[in-house]
Amino acid sequence: MRAAAQVVSRTLGIVAAEIKPGVTPLQLDKLAETYIRDQGAEPAFLGLYGFPNTLCMSKNEQVVHGIPDNRPLVDGDIISVDCGAKLHGFYGDHAYTFAVGEVSAEVRKLLQVTLESLYLGIEQAVVGNRIGDISFAVQQHAEKNGYGVVRELVGHGLGRKLHEKPEVPNYGKRGSGPRIQNGLVIAIEPMINMGVKNIKQLEDGWTIITADKKPSAHFEHDVAIVDGKPEILSTFKYVEEALVKTLA
Ligand code: MG
Ligand code: MG
Repeated sequence: MRAAAQVVSRTLGIVAAEIKPGVTPLQLDKLAETYIRDQGAEPAFLGLYGFPNTLCMSKNEQVVHGIPDNRPLVDGDIISVDCGAKLHGFYGDHAYTFAVGEVSAEVRKLLQVTLESLYLGIEQAVVGNRIGDISFAVQQHAEKNGYGVVRELVGHGLGRKLHEKPEVPNYGKRGSGPRIQNGLVIAIEPMINMGVKNIKQLEDGWTIITADKKPSAHFEHDVAIVDGKPEILSTFKYVEEALVKTLA
């Protein structure tokens, strides 16, 4: 599972290096598919429940499950890139929301708070806690900042299937839900809206957007519980390295 998580992490790093105004989501999708296959892995989303691409790419008011298209990214967009891969029978599932060029301070804060809420959730993934402790930590931080927490879509267990039990909601009560045990692997993935928590699905049958069309952010890590503590199997290291180079 570590190896599968590394494949998706490196794939996001490759995508990160190319994100700029003028690039199309479909170009990035092709790049990701080629890279995943070159690693001896398979794209996990392609064909899953009928999804047509390797990456889910969700721009601005799109929350998740956006289908890569050929409309170029423009300065000021944000785009969530969610990547799944299967390696040696195990899945990795990982997402990062990128700023394209310059984004407003308001949007930058949404990205920052969503990322913080992910790590606050991960901190709660310890033996002795329950899933609701993760959910509560994510929700608290997002709502404290005035944001809406999506209810209908949640994190999940991860292993020989992409979506396993337990569900890992981004909202909930402390001390509720399944117990966290050693050996559990979960994908924790806050989906946080700048405005209301409500969402809608587009006619394409996939893309989820915010009901008020305000932007939404999404970050996802794969987390294993080892010796009572969370070990983050995925990493944003490759993304961060690529972003530093882009800015240099
Ligand atoms: Mg994902
Ligand atoms: Mg996931």
